[in-house]
Amino acid sequence: MTYNFIIKGDICYSKNKDELITGKDKYLVCEDGYSRGVYDKIPESYKDFKLYDYSGKLILPGLIDLHVHAPQYTFRGMGMDLELLDWLNTYTFPEESKYKDLSYASRAYERFVEDLKYSSTTRACVFASLHVDSTILLMNLLEKSGLISYVGKVNMDRNAIEDLEEDDAKESLSATRAWLDSIKDTYKRTFPIITPRFTPSCSDELMEGLGGMVEEYCLPVQSHLSENPGEIEWVKELCPWAKCYGDSYDRYKLFGSLTKTIMAHCVWSDEREQRLLKDRGVFIAHCPNSNLNLASGIAPIRKYLDQGQNIGLGSDIAAGSHLSIFRQVSDAIQVSKMYWRYIDQRCKPLSIEEGFYLATLGGGKFFGKVGSLDKGYEFDALVIDDADYKNENLSIEERLERTIYMSEPRHVRHKWVSGKEIF
Ligand SMILES: [Zn+2]
Repeated sequence: MTYNFIIKGDICYSKNKDELITGKDKYLVCEDGYSRGVYDKIPESYKDFKLYDYSGKLILPGLIDLHVHAPQYTFRGMGMDLELLDWLNTYTFPEESKYKDLSYASRAYERFVEDLKYSSTTRACVFASLHVDSTILLMNLLEKSGLISYVGKVNMDRNAIEDLEEDDAKESLSATRAWLDSIKDTYKRTFPIITPRFTPSCSDELMEGLGGMVEEYCLPVQSHLSENPGEIEWVKELCPWAKCYGDSYDRYKLFGSLTKTIMAHCVWSDEREQRLLKDRGVFIAHCPNSNLNLASGIAPIRKYLDQGQNIGLGSDIAAGSHLSIFRQVSDAIQVSKMYWRYIDQRCKPLSIEEGFYLATLGGGKFFGKVGSLDKGYEFDALVIDDADYKNENLSIEERLERTIYMSEPRHVRHKWVSGKEIF
């Protein structure tokens, strides 16, 4: 399949975290699934490519969701009066236990994947549940959608509920191996990722075994880190040897020392942990909507940006109640204002440019050369019809700002991922 075409419209993408590139009535060339650049006129060498004219509409890079729980999509917006550990026990664990039933999983995952497909998200890093069969079902649906994703069968062998717990490390590891072996060479756009739920859910023996599998299969890792004060105290009790929460993963090679790794939240990471994140090149998935809903706190994103950390955004469904990454951008900007106002006035609020960067180039880096429309990047693009809120005389930057704050899924009219038309 070759993906060769040109789209015309009003272009906007991040050059870096501080600068946007914009252009009215430009031509964006896709060849073999890659951007060949943005032009004022169609270059001679591409004159035979089919042209799609979206004049007057915005063309943006696809957005990246670095952290989302697919089986939690069914109960978003519930239990928002609880903090993390109570919310997990009351809502999350009972709901996730239902995914051992494949017909339940099928109905729920079809809805999730359908909504993700028609959202502004082009790529996602997804937690499934601990169940192998329903995880494979989810991967089949994601592959069919054309989106690009990493999906993790969750590992958890302690401190959950009877209906949602693997008996021991051995059982959890052998289920993970069965999952990996059965999906080998199955997909082109859907990839496995090792997914210890979080330290309180995983025994040391399980963590050690997962670190071995990361090495053996050369797979990336995703998990949670320093989200909530009660959780952090619990990790100190469970792993008294750990120098910080991050160390409870790092000891078992699950923290970026072998392969790329995403840690969601990092709200309360101390200086030692921040250094470890930076040294290991771990991707921080900032999930501001979730952190508000569960009163987890505000991650010091200004500090992380200044430190040069790898950062993107995550919806964290269902602690986050919105799938939209545009919504995460506006929430990230809003919480950064509260951090500046109430916590540390040296940490200035995020700008629109920085928020948009996190949603595109920032998270895109996890997937490779992704998150920009510039020449050489994989062709992930959105056509946004902003006629509902586009006033005369607005600049493209202003239209982007309105799109971040005001757009709804229906405003996303077309989407491509790595050159493939999704709709
Ligand atoms: Zn999460």
